[in-house]
Amino acid sequence: MEIFDPAELWGRERIENVQLSRLKSIVTHARNCGFYRERLDQAGIRADNLRSLDDIRHIPFTVKQDLRAQYPAGLLCVPSSKIVRMHCSSGTTGTPVAVCHTQNDVNAWADLMARCLHMVGVRREDAFQNMSGYGLFTGGLGIHFGAERLGCMTIPAGAGNTRRQIKLIKDFRVTVAHILPSYALILGEHLRSAGEDPRDLPLRIAVVGAEPYTEEFRKRIEEIFGIKAYNSYGLSEMNGPGVGFECPEQHGLHIWEDAYIAEIVEPETGVPVPEGEVGELVMTSLCREGMPILRYRTRDLTRFLPGECPCGRAHRRIDRILGRADDMFIIKGVNVYPMQIEEVIMTFPEVGQNYLILLENDGVGDMMRVQVEVRDEYFVEDMRMLQNLQKAIARRLRAEILLTPKVELMESNSLPRAEGKAVRVRDLRGNR
Ligand code: AMP
Ligand code: ZN
Repeated sequence: MEIFDPAELWGRERIENVQLSRLKSIVTHARNCGFYRERLDQAGIRADNLRSLDDIRHIPFTVKQDLRAQYPAGLLCVPSSKIVRMHCSSGTTGTPVAVCHTQNDVNAWADLMARCLHMVGVRREDAFQNMSGYGLFTGGLGIHFGAERLGCMTIPAGAGNTRRQIKLIKDFRVTVAHILPSYALILGEHLRSAGEDPRDLPLRIAVVGAEPYTEEFRKRIEEIFGIKAYNSYGLSEMNGPGVGFECPEQHGLHIWEDAYIAEIVEPETGVPVPEGEVGELVMTSLCREGMPILRYRTRDLTRFLPGECPCGRAHRRIDRILGRADDMFIIKGVNVYPMQIEEVIMTFPEVGQNYLILLENDGVGDMMRVQVEVRDEYFVEDMRMLQNLQKAIARRLRAEILLTPKVELMESNSLPRAEGKAVRVRDLRGNR
């Protein structure tokens, strides 16, 4: 097997030994900021009383609110003159979360990202188009430097402007693209409605991530473009992309355990879940100089996949992110995740590229409306077919979530599109 970094092939013992020694170093280094010095002292944690990896459980969690409270530079563990870059996490209102990197940090991040891309077969001969927003968002520069590090001709196309994206792909014979799942379908639909076949593009691989999507959604992307789509996971607090990535097996995302420690805990209690069960992912950065973050509660829900990956890498795999703990909504006493809805509706070939879940209250009780775009070729069909489709979607949703939502079929491109990550749910229950 061709590898980018020898650490990819380390066995469990080596990985765990390195993790423990790096954990000790990072705990010592983290004491360079007042926040962690105080936290670690209160919990009585010093490097020399971390005897096994399990001892990580005695380190207090770090939550988003801590990072907000320390904005902008409270968590710096090096003199500010050593910082070369900062990024912010997306989608947060109010005080942002800022993460600052040294030159070593950005180099190590680019190496991890290059390792991910190399794992799925990206090589220096590829032309790589990054369709993610640049700026503070880590999907821009984070992916960019990884692709450059591999030696790809890297096009910083940025987000949006579909016509230009397509022109660049054609003109520069782009073979690999980084794209948001929601935008991939929009791009495909744009080509189709212009009478072109998306399969005629030179693309062969898409790196798809930054927001949750289902296996069904991936299959659609692969089918529309005739490519392989690999799931890419990361979060700004842990650098950004490059944290977890699918290998050619496309079954779970390997977490690079020489750079991170991943744990999965029960969201309410913070106690580790039994191996293989779903819980909240908690991440520790093992190598970061500028701003190490210990035991960060990601709010992302997943599970460790049991067993060894046939690809031969011993770095553990997580399942695709099932949703964020914050995305769950409760309607009529039932807990629902948007991905449960997506999983159902995307199995209908008539369904187009976009959908929206509306939660409302009519004064009597809560209601859920699911607006679903229908592909053009079906929308012109007869009324009866559309009514049957509507009923079939409602029935299948009921079987999944035990509630019957109101399903509304919409024309293609009629639902609002987010600039960046897709907004799948609008809760209007407070706006009565
Ligand atoms: P940001 O704050 O911009 O760094 O966004 C990080 C968040 O995006 C993560 O905590 C996840 O909720 C989400 N995310 C990133 N990649 C994926 C992915 N491949 N699947 C699902 N969610 C993702
Ligand atoms: Zn693998």
